[in-house]
Amino acid sequence: TAGGERHAFEAEVSRLLHLMVHAVYSNKDIFLRELISNAADACEKLRYLSLSEPGLLPPGHDGFRIEIAADAAKNTLTISDNGIGMSREEMKDNLGTIARSGTRAFLDQLADKGGEQKQGQALIGQFGVGFYSAFMVADRVRVVSRKAGSEEAFAWVSDGKGTFELSPADLAEAPAAGTRVTLELSADAATYAEEATIERIVREYSAHVPVPIRLAAADGEARELADGAALWVKPKASVTPEEYKEFYGHVGGLWDDPALTIHYRAEGRHEYSVLLFVPSQKPFDLFDPDRRGRIRLYVRRVFIADDAAILPAWLRFVRGVVDSEDLPLNLSREMLQQNPVLEQIGKGVTNRVLAELGKLADNDAEAYAKVWDAFGAVIKEGLYEAPERRDEIYKVARFQTTGHDGWRSLGAYVAAMKENQTAIYYALGESRAAVLASPQLEGYVARGLEVLVLTDPVDAFWVRTALGYEGKPFKSISQGAADLDLIPLPAAAEQPDGDTDVGPLAVALKAALGDKVAAVRASARLATSAVCLVASDYGLDRRTEKLMARGTGG
Ligand code: ADP
Ligand code: MG
Repeated sequence: TAGGERHAFEAEVSRLLHLMVHAVYSNKDIFLRELISNAADACEKLRYLSLSEPGLLPPGHDGFRIEIAADAAKNTLTISDNGIGMSREEMKDNLGTIARSGTRAFLDQLADKGGEQKQGQALIGQFGVGFYSAFMVADRVRVVSRKAGSEEAFAWVSDGKGTFELSPADLAEAPAAGTRVTLELSADAATYAEEATIERIVREYSAHVPVPIRLAAADGEARELADGAALWVKPKASVTPEEYKEFYGHVGGLWDDPALTIHYRAEGRHEYSVLLFVPSQKPFDLFDPDRRGRIRLYVRRVFIADDAAILPAWLRFVRGVVDSEDLPLNLSREMLQQNPVLEQIGKGVTNRVLAELGKLADNDAEAYAKVWDAFGAVIKEGLYEAPERRDEIYKVARFQTTGHDGWRSLGAYVAAMKENQTAIYYALGESRAAVLASPQLEGYVARGLEVLVLTDPVDAFWVRTALGYEGKPFKSISQGAADLDLIPLPAAAEQPDGDTDVGPLAVALKAALGDKVAAVRASARLATSAVCLVASDYGLDRRTEKLMARGTGG
């Protein structure tokens, strides 16, 4: 083409495309949802920008919409939007690379699973497959886009096999503002050029995208498939579970069944609507260093930002929408960072999320166990990041312990404490097996004492600053003198008779070891082993010490 340039896809994109085309994901329907979701995002972005810059809207603009047109004779499918559009550079960057961090790690994980189709599917199911999923059903994809306010349009064309071509497009051919994506469907994907198929997929996946969707039928009529009304402002009683799930897919970019749906309207000092979801599976980017949340902020139905820090980072797995009635529409980036109203809303929503997690924990231990499996390590970050929330987090926190399978609450632990037991004992370690094998544990197990088994990296951090739960301090089994003397051993485990005074031996050992140890002392901590290493009362726990040594070592 005249003025056309050929570009190679970024290596990750090529890998992703290869995976998609080779049917790692067998449900190809979702490509349409991804394209509609991008079109809706583009409309919402322009809706927001045009509030302060009405000139961005093309003359005659009469509302945002997504239009789908199918041509069964040519075997093509076209999705158009009158949203923000893309410049040449944006097309090159957005449709040639993968912006989301964590993608490389995700692809590596997929590759590790090798030919295991099922595993691969489960993994890719969590991954926002995005624009590139179009190549699951198309031999060629053509994108024509005109950035709002621009006098130029560009065309992007690719067969998904390593390169794409970028060239100027005829303005007459381009939308007045926005993007048109045309798929030349592959022979075995002809069903996607049929109106009935399109209608079914839109109903299943995109019926509550907050921009209306129209289908241009063959007879020249346009039919509305979705009205674009905001689901979150509808009364709870009128929303079905299927509608919630479909909306969760759009807003969360996840494919599992949400473990928790939180839908309410807050009235009082601030008015806002909330529709949030707690996923039941870990999104692949959960531990990305940027710890970004994915809640969408709206102001009176206008999308404002998808990265406003409404919830704290330790609740970053929650997805959904918060729509404020009283924030100004012209919120700048800076205003988003430090806005007292937003902060108040964030506090209120955090209260509610914790309360709902607590309710689920009380009412459905099995469902809650899944949530804790997936997100417990993230929630525990709150134990040191948000000391003012500690007691609330303790209520929903669950732990592995010695002597119990499954998750235990601190409440259950405290209720089962032995006579004379004054502390909540914990052991830090790489894994449950490693902790259970440690000699320091012997004296506790012999006395039937329950010990928290803490194996998440985050545990070493919160537990050091934790003050205690219901007046009971946390105490490491590998730290300081074990205060076990007051808790009797069961008769069977009593020490054998004879000379048990190890005082002289301890003195001799200390003399021999010198400065290598702070002290040598007899301990009730041990039952069968002869010796073990412990940290001093005020020193670092041994595992914390190790973690810190690792951290400073790079
Ligand atoms: P994601 O939507 O998660 O960012 P996608 O692969 O779906 O990832 O899309 C990549 C990017 O391409 C989008 O973030 C957006 O910047 C751009 N894009 C895709 N479709 C459109 C569109 N219809 N209008 C404007 N920009 C788009
Ligand atoms: Mg997308």
